[in-house]
Amino acid sequence: MVLVTLNDVLPRARRYHYAIGAFNTSNLEITQAIIEAAEDLNAPVIIAISEKAIKYAGIENLSQIIINLAKKLKIPVVLHLDHGSSFDIAQECIKYNFTSVMIDASRLPYNENLKLTKQVVKYAHKRNVSVEAEIGRLAGIEDDIKVKKGEAIYTDPKQAKFFAQESECDALAIAIGTSHGAYKFKAKPELRIDILQEIAHEVKIPLVLHGASGVKKKWVNQVNQFGGRLGHAQGVPDNLLIAAIKNGISKINVDTDLRIAFTGGVREYLVKNRKDWPGTFGCGDLQSPVL
Ligand SMILES: [Zn+2]
Repeated sequence: MVLVTLNDVLPRARRYHYAIGAFNTSNLEITQAIIEAAEDLNAPVIIAISEKAIKYAGIENLSQIIINLAKKLKIPVVLHLDHGSSFDIAQECIKYNFTSVMIDASRLPYNENLKLTKQVVKYAHKRNVSVEAEIGRLAGIEDDIKVKKGEAIYTDPKQAKFFAQESECDALAIAIGTSHGAYKFKAKPELRIDILQEIAHEVKIPLVLHGASGVKKKWVNQVNQFGGRLGHAQGVPDNLLIAAIKNGISKINVDTDLRIAFTGGVREYLVKNRKDWPGTFGCGDLQSPVL
């Protein structure tokens, strides 16, 4: 199947109160895992690439990996830029066949955010590429952008309505209490479902929840058991995610969970197979040497 845009999968999700998962990748292995899981579940999937992932793996390499894997599938796949910070990066991604881009100018004053978002929307829509924008600020770390807890701002529903209408973006990321990274809540996890309800009432386009990893104990324990130190990592519990989806969220962004699972799997394998160097890492036919 050819790649699709957010507009092919999210409006239906919004209408029928379910959400599509957006999962970050920066390499072949995580991409394979995302695609295998989506295929098993027969579910559409959004594969998200951040600017840091592009710096690490190269835009053409990542784009080609995803396009090659996706074209053999029956499920719809969106190739999406996550937290694009400039017009140039959005343009570059579109050049390399991304079908969707996020422009995150939420660090800028409202008017500048709107101006840059409009510019990207105009360019992207001419090329049949969808655009996600962001209003409000999440705490935590996303690539090189660090936002302290006190600087995080909940999305204002009326402002969100105006922003969505003016910018003509296809999906809007909002801030209702999640944060990026593995340490989302110091105390009891809470989301401002009341604010979400107001936003969903005002904004009719699909809404996006960033920082939505569950940070499940099972995976954190695996990392720690095999030499990692994840401390008091805490994510968004399933019941809060379900409440968010019921109240208007149609795209759920997950990055941290994949990194934790990947790290845990690699750590466990290496500890349990100390003599096995090629092992499952691509050279399965080679004899493992006895060290
Ligand atoms: Zn994010």
